[in-house]
Amino acid sequence: MNIYNYSLKELEQYFINKNEKKYKATQVFEWLYQKRVKSFEEMTNIKKEVINYLKEDFTFENILIIAKQEDVDVCKFLFKLKDGNQIEAVLMKHDYGNSLCVSTQVGCNMGCKFCESGRLKKIRNLETGEMVLQLLKIEEALKLRISHLVLMGIGEPFDNYENVINFIDIINNDKGIALGSRHITVSTCGIIPKIKKFINEGKQVNLAISLHAPNNILRNQLMPINKVYKLPELIETIKEYIKQTNRRVTFEYILLKDINDKKENALELAKLLKGLNCYVNLIPYNETSHLEFKKSDQSKILEFYDILKKNKIGVTIRREFGKKVSAACGQLRANYKEET
Ligand code: SAH
Repeated sequence: MNIYNYSLKELEQYFINKNEKKYKATQVFEWLYQKRVKSFEEMTNIKKEVINYLKEDFTFENILIIAKQEDVDVCKFLFKLKDGNQIEAVLMKHDYGNSLCVSTQVGCNMGCKFCESGRLKKIRNLETGEMVLQLLKIEEALKLRISHLVLMGIGEPFDNYENVINFIDIINNDKGIALGSRHITVSTCGIIPKIKKFINEGKQVNLAISLHAPNNILRNQLMPINKVYKLPELIETIKEYIKQTNRRVTFEYILLKDINDKKENALELAKLLKGLNCYVNLIPYNETSHLEFKKSDQSKILEFYDILKKNKIGVTIRREFGKKVSAACGQLRANYKEET
């Protein structure tokens, strides 16, 4: 088993089963995530006998960087996993720090019509360690520290729920990578039962919902998941989340030319979200050569923004990264596959 798959709690349980004190787990964690060693031999404060059975029970697996595209403020990585599958991660340089966007699955089954990732159906879930390693490898390659992390790469995080929760534990843990809860955002297309489960996890991380439409009919056309978990129930679930956690929710809304960017869409969205402790992140669409959707004109984006603002809905427009690099989820992998 890959050592990077284990949360601190799981490692503690491992040591308890071995009749050892559980603080051994903390020591291992510090070696892995603070000192970043890559073998058990380097863990010099742990006795030989323990090192020996750790070596028997665990491996140090790796993921390989096979392509990299760089621009001034963005760097995109293509990774090869142990079974040959490929995933992506994107590092964005903001003035407030470095933000990493990680993948959670190989492919995706959600089938959102505008999304490149979904063109490849889900092959498998990523293991916890494969998510952790995206961060470790990029920090090592670029010699920098990541301050913010979003689960917005390839895949649907809540379709890989247990591994994603474990991953959040590892990166958030003080003894682990120690990223602050408020610097971590998990994004979902709206898998209602998992949002309900997430409410009870007691995690202080941010939740983002990919909304993309202000009504059921339009959302059905763009996001097949809406036929299972419908918009009215989704909004009810989000109300419950806000009530229980007292936290503000982000709604992501991609602006697609002539599809969901009209004045009446903005008014309907404002009405839908009225009174909710939330804000809307308007996303200029990243066009991809494989799909027919177009990015809204800048004037439309600003008009949409103004309508939400006038209706007292908190709103931001997402900064666009990586014009030169294939920035939308799944694009680098798709292009690389075509070239090779
Ligand atoms: N499955 C999760 C997380 C991955 S997608 C989710 O749906 O939230 C992360 C975000 O990128 C989502 O809001 C998704 O709708 C958006 N997205 C997908 N393709 C895009 C594109 N070409 N341009 C801009 N945003 C895109």
